[in-house]
Formats: sequence, structure tokens, C-alpha cells
Amino acid sequence: MTNAPFRGALIGCGFFSQFHLHAWSGLEGAEIVAVCDRDEGRARETAKRFNIASVYTDAEAMFAHETLDFVDIATTAPSHRPLVELALRHAGTVVCQKPFAETIEDAEAMVVAANAAEADLIIHENFRWQKPFVTMKELIEQNRLGALQFARFSFRHGFDNYVNQPYLAELERFTIMDVGLHLFDLARHFMGEVSNISCSTQRLNPKVRGEDAFTALLVHSGGLTTICDCSFRSVIDPDPFPRTVAWIEGEDASLGLEADGRLTLHGKNGREIFHAAPDIPSWGEAPWHFVQDSVIRFQSHVTDVLSGRAKPQPSGAHNLKTLELAFSAYEAAASGKTITFS
Ligand code: NAD
Repeated sequence: MTNAPFRGALIGCGFFSQFHLHAWSGLEGAEIVAVCDRDEGRARETAKRFNIASVYTDAEAMFAHETLDFVDIATTAPSHRPLVELALRHAGTVVCQKPFAETIEDAEAMVVAANAAEADLIIHENFRWQKPFVTMKELIEQNRLGALQFARFSFRHGFDNYVNQPYLAELERFTIMDVGLHLFDLARHFMGEVSNISCSTQRLNPKVRGEDAFTALLVHSGGLTTICDCSFRSVIDPDPFPRTVAWIEGEDASLGLEADGRLTLHGKNGREIFHAAPDIPSWGEAPWHFVQDSVIRFQSHVTDVLSGRAKPQPSGAHNLKTLELAFSAYEAAASGKTITFS
């Protein structure tokens, strides 16, 4: 048995991958030994910044030369299926950014390929790994709220996101696929499986192609109810971006999360305050540290999966249903109907 770090490669050296690479640099159990981006300048610049020896512009060429324990795919959705299927032929653990896929067929094919390879396929779904949500989950598991009844997960802001991620303005399916997936994962994580969904969408900014706001109503088994709402065109001072606020009610208590990470547990005999804001990583900055810290927590979990100490959270198989919820939200918004799951 060796204590050498697990050897990984990262594909896709764009905006968000820089958080991945900072986080990997600080984790002892894993090391990124190669990066790949079809944009050679970007790949070289990233490798230089993070002191990574091997640089590729083609994933096949990378796999032909490198021996890897894991692959971290940080490209946008259209490339996920070919890259995941290729990576599964060369590494026992593959991490894929959200959105997992643009169609359910592609997502299912990747899950089938992972099962056939007996590999772990993990979706980079970091909201449930944000410190406030980790703390909320702990309080719920300690039964501080009693039987759960209602939840709301809300991501509203007016930040100019299109500077860092210009492709968002071009997406025909925008906020449900970009943020809705995170909120639906939280809904399932806290409130259980969903039996039906209804949704309405808005296009508030004429410069973007798809919907930049939506409100979804999810009913879970047992009648538990969740509202997931999101807007990229809200006027809020101070702007909460990139943080989510939340409210969960149980029979015995309610739990509120504010943008600054403050949690208030409203009990029958008064309230209790918890401070769940994360520390700012040495390489990070406020208010991005809520996201940056969650990437560290998520990737630390990936090293636990690599070591056999944990099961993927969430796995590709688990994320199929979250993806289905996103597609159903579009269907519900277009038809005005509630979509029921068997
Ligand atoms: P980006 O466009 O800045 O970067 C993507 C990079 O992938 C580009 O450099 C591109 O050249 C490269 N690429 C694409 N296809 C490739 C291929 N086949 N081989 C090699 N390189 C390839 O995108 P981004 O903003 O960094 O987003 C990447 C993904 O991360 C998206 O799916 C996005 O939804 C997700 N994301 C997640 C979060 C989160 O909180 N989890 C936040 C932001 C972005």
C-alpha cells in the first residue's frame, strides 16, 4: 500500500476550472499531473500557473501518454458524453461538471458506461457541499426540526454573470439548466424524491436568449413541498451573488439561511443562531468563498471516494433524476401543466 497521491488529469481549462485547480493544489490526497484544453494557449497558461508538467490539446492523446487514477472534466455540457465515455476507458474515477448532459439519453449512456467499466462517476454538484447547507443537513439529521414540511431554495441576484461566462447569454435553456439543477439537487437532498413539478419561466433581460428567471414548485413523496426560485435580473442591495438563501420548515422548528451564512433556528421556545460562513481560502476572495470552499469540500469528498472511504455524492446515476427534473420544468413551463413522475 502506497501513500502517493492519486494521479488525476483535468480537461477544460476555462473560468470555473481555476477553482478546481486551486482546490486540488491544496488537497494532499490527489495531484493533477496533466491538463487538457482544445485551446492550446489556455491549456499552457493554466499548466504554468499551477505548475503542471503535461499539457495536451486532445484528450485521446493525453490518455495515450498518461497513467491516471481519476479524470476531472470541467468543460461545458456538449462535450461531456464523448469525454466521459473516453475517460471511463482510462481511469477508475471520473468527475463531470454539471449540467451532466444536454439530453437524458446522453446521461443514461454515461451511467451505463460507468457501470460497465465498474468505475465511479461523480457529478461536480457543489451546492450541497457549501458549508451552510452541510450545517443545515447536520441540524436536520440531529432531528432539530422534526418531520419536514416545506422548503425554499432561492438564488436571486443582479450580478453581471456574462463577463465570466459569456456563453450563458447564448443558451436557449439557461437558468434552469445552470442554477435550477443545483436547487433541484438541494430539494432532493433535503426533502426526498419528487412526485410532481410545475414551473413558470421569465425572460427579463432582452440581451439573453433563454429564460433568466424561473419559479418551480416541487411536491415530494408524502406531500412535502419545495419552492425553487432563481433570477439573474433582481435588484438587491447588497447583491447576494453567488449565494443561495433558504428556508426549511419542520413540525418542531424552522431553519432560515441568509446570504451572509447566518442560520437561524426558530424553535417553539425561541431562536438559536449559527454562523456557517466558510473561511476564505488563501487563493480566494469574498463573496466567491462560499463557492470556492464548496469546491474544496467536494473535491476532498472525491479523494474519499478514490480511497474507498465514501460513495459518490452525487453519482451520475443519482443525478439522472435531477436532470429529468430540469427537463420536466421546461415542459411544465411550456405547457402550463404539472408533470407527474411515476
Ligand atoms: P468555459 O467555457 O470558461 O471553459 C470550458 C473550457 O473547456 C474551454 O476552455 C474549452 O476550450 C474547453 N473544452 C471544451 N470542449 C473541450 C474538449 N472536447 N476537449 C478539451 N477542452 C475542451 O466554461 P466554464 O464557465 O468554466 O464552465 C465549465 C462547466 O462548469 C460548465 O458546465 C458550467 O455549467 C460549470 N460551472 C459550474 C459551476 C458550479 O458552481 N458548479 C460554476 C460555473 C460553471
